[in-house]
Amino acid sequence: MNQDTICALATANGVGALGIIRLSGENAVKIAQKSFKGKNLENQKSHTVHYGFIIDGDETIDEVMVSVFLAPKTFTTEDIVEISFHGSPHIAKKILEILLKNGARMAKAGEFTMRAFMNGRIDLSQAESIADLIASENEASRKVALNQLKGGITNEISILRNDLLNFTSLIELELDFGEEDVEFADRTAMNKLLQNLRHKLSALIESFQYGNALKNGVEVAIIGKPNAGKSTLLNALLKEERAIVSEIAGTTRDTIEEVIHLKGTAFRFVDTAGLRETTDIIEKIGVTKAKEKIASAKVLLYLYDEFDSTPEEVIAFVKEFHRKDLKIVLVHNKVDLTKDQIQNTFDKQLNAELFPEYCDELLRISAKDQTGIEAVKTILIDYVENLKDQESNVIITNQRHYDALQKSLQSVLQVEEAVSSGIHTELLAYELRNALEHLGEISGEFTNDEVLGNIFSKFCIGK
Ligand code: GDP
Repeated sequence: MNQDTICALATANGVGALGIIRLSGENAVKIAQKSFKGKNLENQKSHTVHYGFIIDGDETIDEVMVSVFLAPKTFTTEDIVEISFHGSPHIAKKILEILLKNGARMAKAGEFTMRAFMNGRIDLSQAESIADLIASENEASRKVALNQLKGGITNEISILRNDLLNFTSLIELELDFGEEDVEFADRTAMNKLLQNLRHKLSALIESFQYGNALKNGVEVAIIGKPNAGKSTLLNALLKEERAIVSEIAGTTRDTIEEVIHLKGTAFRFVDTAGLRETTDIIEKIGVTKAKEKIASAKVLLYLYDEFDSTPEEVIAFVKEFHRKDLKIVLVHNKVDLTKDQIQNTFDKQLNAELFPEYCDELLRISAKDQTGIEAVKTILIDYVENLKDQESNVIITNQRHYDALQKSLQSVLQVEEAVSSGIHTELLAYELRNALEHLGEISGEFTNDEVLGNIFSKFCIGK
């Protein structure tokens, strides 16, 4: 247990009806008592609330409610005191000064949660989920964070680790017997386990695409020549005049990002300069940005019309930018302006050349009249729904976990290869230990100060 007692404002810094200051550590109750006039806090039961005043010597600072939580059934497993005061930043500052004077020290960012982790109350992935919960902006991200806090991923991983651990012990036993050429670990059973592991790890890894979409949103790039109607479409989707709509070709020079929430998922729309070859320097920056945006986007809405584009151009574009992990949606805009006949011939050509190898959706819309906008939204929602088609019931949302799972999978593949090639037991044991370590990184069983510093520094002070 930590010797020093830490304190910090737990609520947002600003005026509010109430504010909460939290103390955690061996002397939390003693320090609170020194700063308090009311019942003797040191004689109170755990999980009780008490009325009184915060005092500085003879001076009364505020009328407060003080909650006492005694170790070990607390968030940090240490004694915790929470002071609810009238939510003025000035009062918060005065109370903190008094607590510091009476022996507490200011908590560092994430230090309460770090103590909860260090004292074994939660594992690392749960600590991370607390930061995710605080940062959650919609239903989807709240739910996945809460599932992780409840230990979803920890349970799944620990089952996998246990299986692997059993085999590693058997293999190490073989090593102990050295020269005698005995096999404790049944290689057929081991192959089966490895196969199973590979399967489960792959499913978890695959779930990251969905998890990441829920947590961070889906990046959507709206691309097309200048004047194709990109800003107009973006506005129709946002239903607000936020992007600058202009009739002069190439004036949407900077990337504008806007977010809409559909069925609880955030879609990040990026409106960019047209992909027209250009000599204008400022516009060139815009074009480069557009290419960068396509590189990071998951969905690309390619806008065209039959006045400014030819089918050959659209086909060339799609063939150039098509990627396995990019959904390209062809959006034929300005359908209010011409006869169906011309549009049909245009789109038939696209269909013949591009479907289903390069893309599989073609929509006809009028961004200006706002027709077909719902269909665009439906495609986006379906995109996320389809990502959900995966076997794991636990969803990975964290890049660090994803990396650790990838490394675990690599080691499992190596173990599999080692087994089938009849490699020396010592090397086999080495590969197995590697896989175990990578799996242990997720829960924090194997970790280092740098990783921890990185995780907890992203928390706010008071958490
Ligand atoms: P961007 O350069 O691709 O962002 O294009 P804008 O959104 O600025 O649109 C260029 C021009 O096309 C504007 O005058 C829009 O009003 C017009 N426009 C956009 N969509 C449509 C549409 O569906 N029908 C018609 N008739 N005009 C449109």
